[in-house]
Amino acid sequence: MGEKTQHRLLLLLCLSGLVHCSAGMVFWTAVVEISYAKNDNETVDKYCECGVYGRNSPLAKASGIVTLPKGDPKGCGPDPVYNRNSSSPAWIALVKRGNCTFSEKINAAKSQGASGVVVYNVEGSGNSTTHMSHPDALEIVAIMIGNTQGMEIFKLVKNGTDVHMHIDMGSPHGPWMDTYWLYFLSIAFFIVTAASITYFVFISANRLYNLGIHRRAEKRLKSEAKRAIKRLQVRTLKRGDEETASDSHMCAVCIESYKAGEVVTVLTCDHIFHKACIEPWLLERRTCPMCKCDILKALGVEEETKETLSVESPPDATVITRHQHLYDNRAFEGESEAVRG
Ligand SMILES: [Zn+2]
Ligand SMILES: [Zn+2]
Repeated sequence: MGEKTQHRLLLLLCLSGLVHCSAGMVFWTAVVEISYAKNDNETVDKYCECGVYGRNSPLAKASGIVTLPKGDPKGCGPDPVYNRNSSSPAWIALVKRGNCTFSEKINAAKSQGASGVVVYNVEGSGNSTTHMSHPDALEIVAIMIGNTQGMEIFKLVKNGTDVHMHIDMGSPHGPWMDTYWLYFLSIAFFIVTAASITYFVFISANRLYNLGIHRRAEKRLKSEAKRAIKRLQVRTLKRGDEETASDSHMCAVCIESYKAGEVVTVLTCDHIFHKACIEPWLLERRTCPMCKCDILKALGVEEETKETLSVESPPDATVITRHQHLYDNRAFEGESEAVRG
């Protein structure tokens, strides 16, 4: 399995884990609608999507007259907690958070026939709500609302107003709606982006560096090849020479037989080629096209370059001048000067 495939699988695994984890944290908001008659018989209707269904609550509608516990507004006291029973008109218990578990509060109302339970948050928490967990109180609609709204309804009911409440499903919300998750996702996104950019910068820098090394090496080899070519023997073929005598002698680069008057280069391995054919070849490949003999090694040019570099002295020109007069190849005179500095 390739490294890329492994990375993709890992990414998929992380994503599916995140999706699975997120699915478990989805919660439903509840639309809470209240209506009551004011002193002058005017009916007030209010509604907001400000409730959150409990984790163990059925996602269903519920409605009825809002009813407060008899004593403690937290609804934890001994039975019976409410002045209601199952034969009363439909009613919804409004209890404050605290003192006992959500399950206990909800069960106390359920046992007396409530059609739903609304828990409002503690003082000072404003409009915030919790995705409450009540594993021991099932099969009854239970939602939580904020303290501000809860207190408003509480006061109305306490003052003897009949408040009718209707609870309906709002919309699903995931962890991505949560501020904490937004922070977390932003930071994760930033880290992943930064890591990716760093990785690509590193890879690009590395490639550029290697390219630089490769180019320098190519340049060095080319200049060495030029020096080597200058030392090769160059002949002008004459009528009667062995090479012009028969068609069996031909240049392996252009596959043409030799003619009198043509200029040829003799490599260190004694193979002969047209000068114009072999010089570009040697600049690129530095080996004989027929026997693969390395002309840099054969002429000792590579060793000279290494020695020159290790001694840290200006490039030694003596070796070149020593051979300069042996052969008549002066094609790279100017460039050779440039190489030697
Ligand atoms: Zn040729
Ligand atoms: Zn050869």
